[in-house]
Amino acid sequence: MAITDKIYLKNHRQIASQLETSIPKGVFKGATLDLLFQGEGLEKLDDATRERVLDFASDFLDCACDTNPYCGCPERKFVAYLLELRAQGLGPDAIVDVMGDDYLVYAYSGDILSFLDNSVRTLEAAEGLARVDGAREKAAEIDAAKRDLAK
Ligand SMILES: [Zn+2]
Repeated sequence: MAITDKIYLKNHRQIASQLETSIPKGVFKGATLDLLFQGEGLEKLDDATRERVLDFASDFLDCACDTNPYCGCPERKFVAYLLELRAQGLGPDAIVDVMGDDYLVYAYSGDILSFLDNSVRTLEAAEGLARVDGAREKAAEIDAAKRDLAK
């Protein structure tokens, strides 16, 4: 399972009751994207919740793809957001805190930890391939990204 399948709505019950419908806990589930982030759903939310939901929508769901929000961009952008927090030096627990403050979402820090480990391994593999190809600059770039994550 991708890490984006393990990102959940905080205050899930409150949000569902404000929307007057049941929605999945998973932020990137189709029904959540439909009901929470589009149209009428937003109007039913209290101000504090709506603000965060709008922030999430404008930061991750704002692409112009025909199939938005099912184009994969939201997930890719969220992964980039996680990696950026890590590159700023945050550990899994702090990353979970920040995503809660920013967007009212949460994950288990163990899931974040294994996501970060996997990312480092993916970068190692990519670095190896770049070296085999003789793409030294690319390899150095990947190595720098990897060090950012592993520090
Ligand atoms: Zn897109």
